[in-house]
Amino acid sequence: MNKMTNFWERFVQFITFINLPIRKKFLLFEVGTFFWFALVGILCVSSLSFIHYRYTQITQTTLPYTKLIYAISSELYSLEKRVTLGEDEVTLLTVKTSITQMKNAIAEAMLKIQKNPTSGNIFEAVINSLSKEDTQSLSALQAISKELNAMEALTQTKIEGLSSVQKEEMRKKLGLHVKNTQQLTQSFSLRIDGLYDTYSLQINDTIRLSINTIAMVIIFALLLLFFFTRWLQEAFSKPIESMIQQIHSIGTGEVDLTKKLQIKSKDEIGTLSKEFNKLVDSVYGVTVFKKVIEEDSSLEVVYGRLGEVFEKEAGMKNYRIFDVNAAKGTMSVVYPHIFDEKEFLSCNEEILHSCTLCRAQKTGHKISSFEFEGVCKEFIKEDGKAHVCIPIIVAGHAGAVVQFVFENCHTAHEMEAVNEKIFKAESYIKNSISVIETKRLMNTLRESSLVDGLTGLYNRRFLQDHSNQIIASALRRKKQISLLMCDMDYFKQVNDKYGHDVGDSVLKETSHILKKCVRDSDIVIRFGGEEFLILLIDTEVGYGLSVAEKIRLSVEEFNFKTTDGILKKTISMGISDFPNDTDGFWQAIKFADVALYKAKEMGRNRCIQFSNELWDQKASF
Ligand code: GH3
Ligand code: MG
Ligand code: MG
Repeated sequence: MNKMTNFWERFVQFITFINLPIRKKFLLFEVGTFFWFALVGILCVSSLSFIHYRYTQITQTTLPYTKLIYAISSELYSLEKRVTLGEDEVTLLTVKTSITQMKNAIAEAMLKIQKNPTSGNIFEAVINSLSKEDTQSLSALQAISKELNAMEALTQTKIEGLSSVQKEEMRKKLGLHVKNTQQLTQSFSLRIDGLYDTYSLQINDTIRLSINTIAMVIIFALLLLFFFTRWLQEAFSKPIESMIQQIHSIGTGEVDLTKKLQIKSKDEIGTLSKEFNKLVDSVYGVTVFKKVIEEDSSLEVVYGRLGEVFEKEAGMKNYRIFDVNAAKGTMSVVYPHIFDEKEFLSCNEEILHSCTLCRAQKTGHKISSFEFEGVCKEFIKEDGKAHVCIPIIVAGHAGAVVQFVFENCHTAHEMEAVNEKIFKAESYIKNSISVIETKRLMNTLRESSLVDGLTGLYNRRFLQDHSNQIIASALRRKKQISLLMCDMDYFKQVNDKYGHDVGDSVLKETSHILKKCVRDSDIVIRFGGEEFLILLIDTEVGYGLSVAEKIRLSVEEFNFKTTDGILKKTISMGISDFPNDTDGFWQAIKFADVALYKAKEMGRNRCIQFSNELWDQKASF
């Protein structure tokens, strides 16, 4: 059953030329129309030519014969009368004249008939050549002529010397010839009548047959024309109408994937429908993608989603997404998540520390080694590898760069496949730019609200926002955090003596000292006016106190510059350990504060490690 449907489908496809290119379809349409017109034309011309030929035969052969028969018959009638009535004086001269007239009439008719004119039409020439010469009529005329010749010969005889018996005999002979001639003429007349009837019938038949055939051919050609044009109309207008509808729905933001175009043919319309469906798919994919990333919580998640679509939708596995930190002039791989960033790079690792070395980041243009080999010096040359780097422009500069690494292409087909992948990836990148821009802006705003404007250190709000994260991380790794609560000694005096500006610059210098004395992974917070809280991550017992001592000494030794000369300041610190001293993080901060209070109490410029006695003492106040 299935085989039968397949066969039927293929048959219909074959006879409707469905899979032929449009140009060939129209060519066939042209050839078909020409064929049917030519067929109708040939039928008309050939039937008319045949009719004309027969008509000519009637007018130029049958009619002269009829006239001739009439002329001979009337001459014979008068001759017969003279011979049979037994006139005494048979005027041989009148007989002779009669015979001559008949012979002349025959000669004249033959002349006319032998001309046998045709119109010069090729069809008539063909019919003429095919038709046999009318030998029967010719031999009948020859027989008549023979009789006339015999009669003429008799008239040559000199009658003066003849006896009456001989004369009588001669008259009898003449009478016999006249009779013979009459009989021959009669049978010839019957034959001509027969020919006339045959030709008339043939003309009638030809006319009837021609009308029927031409009418049928025209009806069949019109039916074919009707169905073929209807089919062409369907084949062109349906997919185009659907495309218009889909384009309209894309314009209004509602893509209905259930209304995909049916691909019925393998011609240009079929290819167009296929490509259009692919386009709708990707537009739909991109639209959905954009909606999803708009609702994503962070920039990292957005980069992750971009990576996923590169893999799933564009089929690219070898790629990296770099995030650029314009302020620091650095860039780092943010997706895929990798263990060793440097190992994973296809570029010199210097680009991570100096992002302007990356050509795509610097120029803000797509960089492709397919277009120009060795275009970026930072790409590590590897046999058979090519790269395409696409910058993501946010706020006027490349805020991120996506690098794709491909195998080199050797054929136009391979290159086309790569271009298609890049095109797809680019459409996702373009649609994510606005979201990336917004998320980066939000990050900057959030960061600025978490950073102290004077010193550039994190503020107390940062600690509130991130404390849970910091605590969870320490507990998970079973590591300790040392908390250093620092307060400048007699700071009020600085303001009083040197003014607020000098106080501010002392605070800035102090924050630098604090940052310098700790590791990058440690967190320095401006906790209050001239109070700082330092979180030393992953510490051992006693480590906090030693770092605090280092800080205290650094501040003590530092020369703060003022307009009035060098200013010396000291700092006091209280230290507690989380979770060693307490399970509560905020309680540990309080403990550090208690230790600081003790340091102040003990004369300042010192570091005190928290102990439970200090808490008990505080309680006893
Ligand atoms: P102690 O040794 O007891 O800490 O004495 P102190 O003078 O430092 O006393 P306290 O800590 O109570 O004084 C803090 C002073 O720091 C009060 C305020 O004028 C000053 N201060 C707080 N924030 C700023 C700031 O942003 N800039 C400047 N210039 N001064 C500040
Ligand atoms: Mg204070
Ligand atoms: Mg103070």
